[in-house]
Amino acid sequence: MHHYEKLYIDGKWVACAGHEHIEVVCPSTEEVLGSIPAGTAEDADRAVQAAQRALESWANTAVSERAAFLGRLHQGLLRRGDELAETITGEVGMPLKMSRAIQVGLPSAVMASYATLALEFPFEEQIGNSLVLKEPAGVVACITPWNYPLHQIVAKVAPALAAGCTVVLKPSEVAPFNAFILAEIVDEAKLPAGVFNLVSGLGSVVGEALSAHAGVEMVSFTGSTTAGRRVGHNASQSVKKVSLELGGKSASLILDDADLAMAVKATVNGCFLNSGQTCNALTRMLVPESRYQEAAALAVQLAQGFTVGDPFGGEAKLGPLISEAQRERVRSYIRKGIEEGAELLVGGAEPPEGLKRGYYVQPTLFGRVAPDSTLAQEEIFGPVLSIICYRDEEDAVRIANGTPYGLAAAVWSGDQERALRVARRLRAGQVDVNGGRFNAMAPFGGIKQSGHGRELGRYGLEEFLVPKSLQL
Ligand code: NAD
Repeated sequence: MHHYEKLYIDGKWVACAGHEHIEVVCPSTEEVLGSIPAGTAEDADRAVQAAQRALESWANTAVSERAAFLGRLHQGLLRRGDELAETITGEVGMPLKMSRAIQVGLPSAVMASYATLALEFPFEEQIGNSLVLKEPAGVVACITPWNYPLHQIVAKVAPALAAGCTVVLKPSEVAPFNAFILAEIVDEAKLPAGVFNLVSGLGSVVGEALSAHAGVEMVSFTGSTTAGRRVGHNASQSVKKVSLELGGKSASLILDDADLAMAVKATVNGCFLNSGQTCNALTRMLVPESRYQEAAALAVQLAQGFTVGDPFGGEAKLGPLISEAQRERVRSYIRKGIEEGAELLVGGAEPPEGLKRGYYVQPTLFGRVAPDSTLAQEEIFGPVLSIICYRDEEDAVRIANGTPYGLAAAVWSGDQERALRVARRLRAGQVDVNGGRFNAMAPFGGIKQSGHGRELGRYGLEEFLVPKSLQL
């Protein structure tokens, strides 16, 4: 059991202003795993004040020293890597082996990348008679979701600290324990008091308080488009800088000359990763009408290979969904898809066989989904893949771009030049061309209602900097 009683503010573990706790439920057993303090607006205010006091000194700390602190945080993540992977598998439900690589390996690498990037980054630039300084944005509120909880935190906290900002972190109340472990690592690394603060609690309380707080100069938010809109609204009252990383409905566009087996496999894997609870999941597979039967048969075979079960068991490729509410939401989307007339090829709304406990959903595949149907337009956040047929390349590009989102996409063609030409036409923040691998140094973020921030690598660092010009 993890029972956290205190918040981390001003370099100390301190009692919460309120007396409430939030219970954290294990999605694979439905049992309570432990609890965290339900922070209040008063706690948020105390943390912001601590971050304000620490700002000037941290912003003026030599970059080499800030980089050394990040190096120590990286060491701490490595030291506690196994514990973190088990903790995240417990609270999120991703199979343990994948958690080690993705939920912990990725953020550890991102932390290390900022220790290096900080040293290489040109914080000053000469333009004509001006010296341009890139200065920290100030006190930053980082508000993060549950699906890749530690990764989302590190993708904000590491570049913010590298930039010289001070931070108040409000992690997801659904999967918060990893954030408390990170705070312990920060404490051991002896980061100066107030540079990093952790206030757990509800979005409607702590998240609202932070995004509206006049002392916060920037909000970096990752989560749903609905909450992102609210954060943007609250932040606008004091004209804060806002970075939003929101939802997606990403297309995998398979052109008629593509290697179908390779493209379908990567799309199904990309859709079902973390039980479909991935913001850039490839949830729409676009295939030419002439290759639909072949593509559907391949996808069915692959989807049937996704064994659902205990994420600690070693066999399962799909763990549970995060919560009962999320399971019910996904099931209702599956029912809606059937109602809307899409062909149910695999899966369905019934619980998977033999799993009496846990928020499991069958991997589900729909064929001949209408591009403007609910199934093809809304973010489901579950293991549900829609196959959509198109007439020609123009039609395919139009369908791929035809949702309110613009986070990610993939393109497949036997002709790399053609794939690149189509990739340039897709309205998304990142496009994988013929299976191009995820790159943790490349900018990650969306357009349209997927948001407007960029994370990771040099672009992720620039988010937390503001230019100032000195005319000489
Ligand atoms: P969510 O929006 O419910 O919550 C995200 C965070 O915002 C949580 O910490 C929550 O407490 C907080 N929050 C909720 N309401 C708030 C409010 N009114 N003011 C301030 N904070 C508030 O999202 P979630 O369910 O945790 O995560 C899933 C969503 O996140 C999906 O839509 C997914 O696509 C998105 N996501 C996007 C990215 C990306 O990089 N674009 C990455 C991961 C997840």
